Amino acid sequence: RAKNQGRNTVCFFSQELEAELMKRHELELLLRETLDADALTVFFQPQIAIDSGCVCGFEALVRLKEKSGALVAPQEFISLAEELGLIDELGEQVLHKSCAFGRRLLDQGVMLKVSVNVSSQQLKHALFVDQVARCLEKHKLPSRQLELEVTESALVESFEQVQCKLAELADMGVTIAIDDFGTGYSSLSYLKVFPLDVLKIDKSFIQDMGTGEHHFGIVQTIVLLARALGLKLVAEGVETDSQVSELKSLKCDVAQGYFYARPMDSQSAFKYALAHSLGKDQV
Ligand code: C2E
Ligand code: MG
Ligand code: MG
Ligand code: MG
Repeated sequence: RAKNQGRNTVCFFSQELEAELMKRHELELLLRETLDADALTVFFQPQIAIDSGCVCGFEALVRLKEKSGALVAPQEFISLAEELGLIDELGEQVLHKSCAFGRRLLDQGVMLKVSVNVSSQQLKHALFVDQVARCLEKHKLPSRQLELEVTESALVESFEQVQCKLAELADMGVTIAIDDFGTGYSSLSYLKVFPLDVLKIDKSFIQDMGTGEHHFGIVQTIVLLARALGLKLVAEGVETDSQVSELKSLKCDVAQGYFYARPMDSQSAFKYALAHSLGKDQV
């Protein structure tokens, strides 16, 4: 009996493993096909100036589209793209689509910032800065309209290399945001060493904010920190009215989250921008 059970157990795991491998294989194929066809789907989520309710920028968020039309979330394929050595290609395509979006708005007289996520592996790539420069040039997008989001861990991983690249990008006029702030290695000295412009408070802090003094205090402290360092602050994952009022009372100026708008396809985002912008430079 024990022997039987043992065999069943092995069988159970191998089936699960097989399904997992199959799924991974399918995802790899989809990823390769999509990249070959330059057919990544990039959604854009508005960032809102809390006081005016106007859009002040967009974050680009990548998706993969299955044949059925269903969308695959980035958590499912970003690390796979990194493992397969495809992240530079993916990143470059996202960058192009994002700059094209910014350009399209500019052609309508709306100057908004587009913020693009960059993985640590991309940042380590020798040609990354060139890639960004070529992209801006190709789309004739002013560099101050492009923002790059990096995580704390990306900053720590290859400190000197990254420091140098970010300095070059900052010299070009590209702004740098630190993403998911508070969830990584929080050595505060990093905030002074890197040429950062924006601090994005991680959504976990925003979502806990209403659940006690303690959590409110954390957000409050991050707001004060950003102000002391002269960094612009963006609260991400804002879902409720009361979160908005609390952020307002803390004098946090920019919010991003389902409360205002979900990430949307570029056509919808384009319309959103025209409807919700002040119609002047907001960069
Ligand atoms: P992130 O950069 O922190 O992006 C914010 C994530 O929060 C997005 O998930 C967004 O859809 C989601 N979000 C926005 N508002 C709300 C809200 O009110 N509530 C909640 N619960 N979530 C909200 P998404 O699009 O699934 O992206 C997940 C992560 O994937 C991103 O986190 C980023 O780290 C990564 N990612 C997305 N696009 C790219 C890309 O082009 N390149 C790279 N390297 N990473 C990307
Ligand atoms: Mg981000
Ligand atoms: Mg984030
Ligand atoms: Mg994240």
